[in-house]
Amino acid sequence: MRKYLHKIAIVSGKGGVGKTTTTINLALALYHKGANVIVLDANITTPNLGLYLGVIKTPKTLNDVLRGTAHISETVYTHSSGINIITSDMAVDALKDINFNKIYQAINDLENHADILLIDTAATLGSETQRIIEAVDEIVLVTNTDKGALADALKTIETAKKIKTIVMGVIINRVKGKLAKDKIEKFLNVPIIGVIKHDNNISKSTEQGKIYLKTYNSKNKNKYYDIATMILGPSYRKKLKKEEKRSLFNYVLKQLGIFPKY
Ligand code: ADP
Ligand code: MG
Repeated sequence: MRKYLHKIAIVSGKGGVGKTTTTINLALALYHKGANVIVLDANITTPNLGLYLGVIKTPKTLNDVLRGTAHISETVYTHSSGINIITSDMAVDALKDINFNKIYQAINDLENHADILLIDTAATLGSETQRIIEAVDEIVLVTNTDKGALADALKTIETAKKIKTIVMGVIINRVKGKLAKDKIEKFLNVPIIGVIKHDNNISKSTEQGKIYLKTYNSKNKNKYYDIATMILGPSYRKKLKKEEKRSLFNYVLKQLGIFPKY
């Protein structure tokens, strides 16, 4: 669909708000809409993307890349659902000899391997998540309506803004009852791009190692497709054009021996 990889990190401030679940379902919705998607589990300390997808272990993982023993392209696996995944190693000693600073290069090496890269991140706003926020084009926040989660989400948004990473918006997850949308938008100062209701089918699918979008048929299904449509919408296409121009400009600068600062 496109020549340039669009890199989006799914972040929060707080753990357990639904990042991994949202990443997986959004990835499948994007795939169903024609995009070639890679999902990367960058939550190296407590990875669970593979687990949620019923994939216990892939021969090569992100850990091998961060250890310098594999190229990122060797770690991409196509899941039975159609989405491509890169998992992190769940073993206890998996963090041995890891250099997380290699993540920037690894992400950029995925250029031309897909249309969209969705990155699932760790629970807290630690240095690893900050590296990811620096490396991507945009972030999407996931939060629930708990005061603490919203306060932590705001902190993450401000961090992203400080380092000039675009905040696409926020997905409010596990909503029960009526949502004070305006109040939350005002507090976070970013648009709400999706509202996902609390849904037992979603937690059931996690337990079963299945993707909710593929397995169940409840109201939230359309919500994931709506967010995917927004991501692939007109502003996305406008951005692509801009990136194409920027890439051409960079190419010319490189040929002249002048390297742009990005
Ligand atoms: P995070 O990645 O932010 O730590 P998870 O995606 O692992 O969060 O979600 C934590 C738990 O909440 C999982 O068991 C998941 O199935 C469940 N969950 C996520 N979203 C919903 C929802 N909308 N309704 C019900 N359960 C949900
Ligand atoms: Mg998670």
